[in-house]
Amino acid sequence: MSASAGAATTASQEAGAAILSEATEAQAAIVIVSQESGTREVLHREMSKRYSADYQIVACGQPAELAARMRDLRAAGLPVALVIGGVGAQDPDGVEVLAAVRDIDPAALRVAAVGWGDWQSVRSVFNAVTLGTLDHWVTCPAQAPAEEFHRSIAEFLREWGSQRGGGFEAAQVIGEQWSARSQELRDLFSRHRVPAGFYDAASGHGRQILRDLGLEAAELPVVVLRFAAKRSVLANPSNQQIADAFGVMTPIPPGEVFDVAVVGAGPAGLAAAVGASSEGLSTVVVEHEAVGGQAGTSSMIRNYPGFSQGISGAMLAQEAWRQAWAFGTTFVYMRQVTNLSGNGGHYQLRLSDGGILAARSVIIATGVAYRRLGIPALEELQGRGVFYGTAASEAPAMRGRRVFVAGGGNSAGQAALHLAKWARQVTILVRAPSLAASMSDYLIRQIGAAPNIDVRYGVQVTGGTGTSAGHLQSLLLQDTASEQQRTVPADALFVLIGAQPRTQWLDHTAARDRWGFILTGPDLPASAHARWPAGRPPLPLETSLPGVFAAGDVRRGSVKRVASAVGEGAATVPLLHRYLARAAATTPRPRGPVTPSRPAPPKPRAPQPPLPAELGAQPAAR
Ligand SMILES: Cc1cc2nc3c(=O)[nH]c(=O)nc-3n(C[C@H](O)[C@H](O)[C@H](O)COP(=O)(O)OP(=O)(O)OC[C@H]3O[C@@H](n4cnc5c(N)ncnc54)[C@H](O)[C@@H]3O)c2cc1C
Repeated sequence: MSASAGAATTASQEAGAAILSEATEAQAAIVIVSQESGTREVLHREMSKRYSADYQIVACGQPAELAARMRDLRAAGLPVALVIGGVGAQDPDGVEVLAAVRDIDPAALRVAAVGWGDWQSVRSVFNAVTLGTLDHWVTCPAQAPAEEFHRSIAEFLREWGSQRGGGFEAAQVIGEQWSARSQELRDLFSRHRVPAGFYDAASGHGRQILRDLGLEAAELPVVVLRFAAKRSVLANPSNQQIADAFGVMTPIPPGEVFDVAVVGAGPAGLAAAVGASSEGLSTVVVEHEAVGGQAGTSSMIRNYPGFSQGISGAMLAQEAWRQAWAFGTTFVYMRQVTNLSGNGGHYQLRLSDGGILAARSVIIATGVAYRRLGIPALEELQGRGVFYGTAASEAPAMRGRRVFVAGGGNSAGQAALHLAKWARQVTILVRAPSLAASMSDYLIRQIGAAPNIDVRYGVQVTGGTGTSAGHLQSLLLQDTASEQQRTVPADALFVLIGAQPRTQWLDHTAARDRWGFILTGPDLPASAHARWPAGRPPLPLETSLPGVFAAGDVRRGSVKRVASAVGEGAATVPLLHRYLARAAATTPRPRGPVTPSRPAPPKPRAPQPPLPAELGAQPAAR
């Protein structure tokens, strides 16, 4: 600890006043708050040792000082990155003190420091994290060096820095603040974890950048890629043009036939790519939107094994993408696979840019598109009282709360029953006049018997509000018949209004159920088995086309979770080996160039050739 920090610590011990350490280069601050001097000192010491060059370290002995201290820091041009607070016997209202930080500075991350072995406090901390009133927790360091503690702190600081922006900008977007395309581009860069700065074209800075580029009259938005030696400047580019300008696409040699082509780079596709390429299979992944799929849109995935603090979906995806890339996977970005057909012992995948890829086997991991409410006020509260698609991990935090479930299907019914174990009251909101057509009878009966579940029919969510701390507070419900609206207090809303598998592009190739989910292995109808050409039953996860597998949310019967999608993606790899070994023994490899693998001019869609007999072409079971 520096001499000045040490002197300040003494002052704090005596008077419970703030401790300030000198950090001439500081760009931001870390604030410690605890009434317990031991906790305060150990946190201050550890923080000062590692971070005082970049952050001003401030400690408060009294929660009442916190707001004034944070305002002073802001006035001095030092935004607060983290507030780390004690919880437990000495800080009995520690969770509430941290929760109130949202009112003072919504951007500061709130971290509870739990004493080693304080199992009493930890449950309330977990609940607060699930509800979003705390951001993270950390175990107080017991001795130096406290590498585990600092690993967490460094990660929190990184999270704060990436949310705040303003650092290194690999890309700049200059566009209209509220245009849909500007929003799409911000989302695209953020999901790919590319540090990008956005500048409103109407602002002084935005106009200046456009002037410097000589692009005052250019079509907006303008995208500047600044990391390459030669800067790329693109006016109103398509996603594909941006991907190409990035220079990360590996050229595919003409005639290349991959061992496996993976369609979709969500968790299932990425796991399949990591597994396949790490085991020596030549692998190509085609991704239409953003690496990470649905998971990449989740700001914090808390139920993925191995990440006790949760992990942002974009970060999880980026790590898996890097891993696959390092193992040799070829990625084709911002292209959609529009058709699958067979040709000469291998499959052909037609891409949206007109290019064609060839592969001996295929993994379809195209996921589902969750239906969203599309209500901006509620989208902003996602993860802070508004939840999509999953109720299991949040349920224990609903103890004693008023919870709403939007949706009338089985998933909504199951979620309501699960939530009712903890919640004070669960209300299912259904647009239809009855559940009979959309939910299984056993669930309807269980719901009818549950004392704390009620169902409101003929009603839909049309709006909502949050508290000043940024948590869901109320919902606006509209009667579908009378269109009358009323506001109800709400602590949480779980949205389960359906999901659509992304399989339309398969036309009549792989067999699907009536909702479009792909049938695999034992789910395939007997008719598919009878016509199976390979002289063997389909492998688990294998579709009605031999050598074409499906993994993740797109597969009928899949569990709609990140971990399950990853598991299924990984599980396809030994199956690929079995299929490829057998195919190699029975099918001669094609000689010479097979098909152009670089983009060809787009062609109008023509009726697709039937799949060859050796690949087992069959119509989809509908
Ligand atoms: C907002 C939100 C939050 C969630 N939070 C959690 C959570 O906390 N915990 C949890 O376990 N689960 C969560 N889920 C569910 C979880 O994200 C999914 O179960 C998981 O992502 C499924 O992975 P997947 O690879 O099967 O499909 P997806 O993630 O849907 O990925 C499919 C990919 O395929 C691409 N694609 C589709 N069609 C084509 C095509 N024709 N050509 C090329 N590419 C194509 C898509 O662009 C997409 O990137 C959440 C989902 C959402 C929407």
